[in-house]
Amino acid sequence: MLALHGKGVSSGIAIGRAFVIKRERISVPEYAVPKELVEEEVARFLAAVASTRAELSEIRNHIPADAPLEAASFIDTHLLILSDTMVSEAPIDDIREQQWNAEFALKTQSDRLIAVFEAMEDPYLRNKKIDVAQVVERVLRNLLNPDERENERAPADLCGRVVVANDLAPADAVALKNKGIIAFITNLGGPISHTAILSRSLGIPAIVAVHGATQYIDNDDELIVDGKRGVLFVDADDIVIAEYERRAEKIARLQRELDALRTSEAVSRDGVSVQLMANIELPEDLAAVHQVLANGIGLYRTEFLFMNRGAPPNEEEQLAAYIRVIKDLPGRPVTIRTLDLGADKRIDIEIPITAVNPALGLRAVRLCLQDVALFKTQLRAILRASAFGQVRLMIPMLSSLDEVSRVRDIVAEVQADLRQDGHGFDPDIPIGGMIEVPAAAVSADLFAAHLDFLSIGTNDLIQYTLAIDRVDDTVNYLYDPLHPSVLRLIAKTIQAAAEQGIPVAMCGEMAGDSRYTRLLLGLGLREFSMHPAALLEIKKIVRDSAIGELRRQAAEIMRARDSRTLQALVERMNGDGEAETEAGEI
Ligand code: PEP
Ligand code: MG
Repeated sequence: MLALHGKGVSSGIAIGRAFVIKRERISVPEYAVPKELVEEEVARFLAAVASTRAELSEIRNHIPADAPLEAASFIDTHLLILSDTMVSEAPIDDIREQQWNAEFALKTQSDRLIAVFEAMEDPYLRNKKIDVAQVVERVLRNLLNPDERENERAPADLCGRVVVANDLAPADAVALKNKGIIAFITNLGGPISHTAILSRSLGIPAIVAVHGATQYIDNDDELIVDGKRGVLFVDADDIVIAEYERRAEKIARLQRELDALRTSEAVSRDGVSVQLMANIELPEDLAAVHQVLANGIGLYRTEFLFMNRGAPPNEEEQLAAYIRVIKDLPGRPVTIRTLDLGADKRIDIEIPITAVNPALGLRAVRLCLQDVALFKTQLRAILRASAFGQVRLMIPMLSSLDEVSRVRDIVAEVQADLRQDGHGFDPDIPIGGMIEVPAAAVSADLFAAHLDFLSIGTNDLIQYTLAIDRVDDTVNYLYDPLHPSVLRLIAKTIQAAAEQGIPVAMCGEMAGDSRYTRLLLGLGLREFSMHPAALLEIKKIVRDSAIGELRRQAAEIMRARDSRTLQALVERMNGDGEAETEAGEI
């Protein structure tokens, strides 16, 4: 028996035989094309691009009806990349002007595009380089083997098989899912790669970064995949198989229990009601929100509407995007966050970018207060949208009260303009702020006095409190939501809001991580906003909790003097042994 370890990116257990996709790395030939054959070479390149487009469209048209919305949007992203001038046009210039062969011209241009994404700080955008590489690889394969159709390489029926590959593009993942596969294993990849996200939404266990998987595993090997723990057994003995069959049965039972909670209230055993909200990036994410019946949107990251396009969306376009979300969730609050752009999150407008230390530079509200025209356009759209439902306006990255009063002044000006223009809006729209800079958390009482609600952004709060760049792998090990200083800032913020009588939410990743739910409940948090996929698990914990008891335990945790004691107390709070596994298994 062999055990291999990687990064578990999609939970669940799968037991089945391996289907290994052994693809050699493509080596890109480089040669000069004689002048008289240049147009023929251009035609060869165009044919490969056309075949690639046809392949992707075919997969796009065969997405099963029950597949998550992301499946289509990931393939659309690949189709968009294929249409990018650097992929589909610039190589033609190089074939004609430099007399390069099509493969080399494509590789040279795409390497430039990949380098642009590689230099980006934002992990989401940096990840786009993987999409570019996957699209380019598809075109290269079509150039090198024009007669071999990508979709026909894998056998039609892979029912019950575990796919083992070097890497998988989202389009491959969807195509393989259609053939009945039950788990993904890849040599490469990271937790925020699209394939990882997609496997989570498809509900397929997946482990990435299992270095050497395609080398050690042969076709038809019996595999056990433990997606939660990131461990994979090859030819396990009977005892291990029996144990995993037992676990798989238990997970299936837990999943049925979670699904049954969809329409239940998030109320604790001692009668405390908790709001479970969803984070979204684009209106397309709404399907997932409906799947879990979230209480509303706790964070709408509007900067995503501004990305991957030439010019920023105008007022009407923004209004339409906001109304789409509001109308889709009648009677439920929608928290629209104003632009968190800047630094690496660039758009095609003239904005001054701080290159020295982007995370500490001109981003979010700082940028909006400098580019008031950009800010006002967004505020007009959000305010106009507020006439259609329950909208809350949320300001990111606040670090001083001066920013709050400047925002309020600008909102008042925009409201006066809208009145004059005859547009309706909610005159009492709640204006809240994200507490994600330590300066704001330390003075949370002052911010609570000047805002209508607070929302704790733990992703940035942890980065700034611990001086750890959230995208820097070398210091990732220090990124600790349970660091006593982080917990004190969170507790202080929750307390400040309670004293001021205003709502406080949390919308960073910590809010959707079941390891912290009980502690946060014990600290008094009553509104959690998270990726929809995490919501039912958090709901189960809320419903199983007695909050009075959690409050007592949280107080003890806050008195702990060192991280190890604190960690042990949190583990005890979560319940060790069987109870812990039950809650965290899925
Ligand atoms: C956060 O910082 O916790 C947050 C929710 O904002 P973002 O992840 O968009 O920076
Ligand atoms: Mg943030």
